[in-house]
Amino acid sequence: MRLEDFDTGTTYDARVISTQRITPVASSEEVREIVLEVERDSFDYQPGQSIGVIVSGDHPQGHKHHFRLYSVADTPPTADGDKPRIALCVKRCNYIDEYSGERYEGISSNYLCDRSVGDSVTINGPFGIPFAVPDDLETDLLLIGMGTGIAPFRALVRHIYEDIKDYKGKVRLFYGAQSGLEMLYMNEEKDDFSQYYDRDTFEAFKALSPRPNWADPIAMDYALEERSEEILAMLDSSRTRVYVAGRADILETLDRVFSHMIGSSEHWARRKAELKAGQRWVELIY
Ligand SMILES: Cc1cc2nc3c(=O)[nH]c(=O)nc-3n(C[C@H](O)[C@H](O)[C@H](O)COP(=O)(O)OP(=O)(O)OC[C@H]3O[C@@H](n4cnc5c(N)ncnc54)[C@H](O)[C@@H]3O)c2cc1C
Repeated sequence: MRLEDFDTGTTYDARVISTQRITPVASSEEVREIVLEVERDSFDYQPGQSIGVIVSGDHPQGHKHHFRLYSVADTPPTADGDKPRIALCVKRCNYIDEYSGERYEGISSNYLCDRSVGDSVTINGPFGIPFAVPDDLETDLLLIGMGTGIAPFRALVRHIYEDIKDYKGKVRLFYGAQSGLEMLYMNEEKDDFSQYYDRDTFEAFKALSPRPNWADPIAMDYALEERSEEILAMLDSSRTRVYVAGRADILETLDRVFSHMIGSSEHWARRKAELKAGQRWVELIY
């Protein structure tokens, strides 16, 4: 769905409760976790869904309302009577115009990263298909994310192990980033996933670019191929769900790797179509 097609008519006020850089200062990438409190009695959303952020003003491209989506990075618990809260994981985006060579600041991501505690933000949503916790608590989950695509999995894994508690299916998380410094929630600033490493059902695998200072692709293919036996068995089982999140190029990588693992691109295309038809393959792609 194109951004222009989203309903931006109904909006809500939210207030910044906390904002914290979650990439080490040594990293050239700034990613922040921003917790918002929504000025409403209830605001229902689930991991895998996204929240819209609307930045009004006279923007350089001439538009008045700049609308962008951010996936839910946590579902922070609130006490009775408290207003609902949402955590977002926002990467400060800057880009160079390929014709003029000028550097532009991404409007919404810079706006969010510059907000201070107490500031207001206009939001809407939630949007998108959730990464639902299956009713059958023995369902295996294959979670694959790149970059800020880790955000929904941070929310989902925490929900599974802290709220659901008796989840019995295995959870395999594959996470790719350009370098160890950009491994969100798995770096020296914040290592949230480490608290689940002692769970029998949970394993996390990191995929890094072989040469972090170059523009080499992240080695997600190696990370997956190394565990192909287990992954193929998971894909064969009607008890597995696959959730994928991150920028669109992750899909090309996954099609290539899974085609290779499974034997041919035709075979993989059929398997993926079956998974999708059975709602066992869900994507959050941007
Ligand atoms: C469903 C969905 C969920 C999303 N979830 C998140 C999220 O959890 N965290 C997050 O940081 N972003 C997320 N995004 C991306 C986000 O919506 C914005 O596109 C991004 O913040 C840039 O918006 P901006 O207004 O700052 O930049 P704009 O002023 O719109 O400028 C866009 C420029 O920034 C570049 N760019 C856009 N997104 C990225 C990115 N993530 N990394 C590197 N370069 C980029 C583009 O190449 C483009 O040139 C999501 C997008 C979608 C569609």
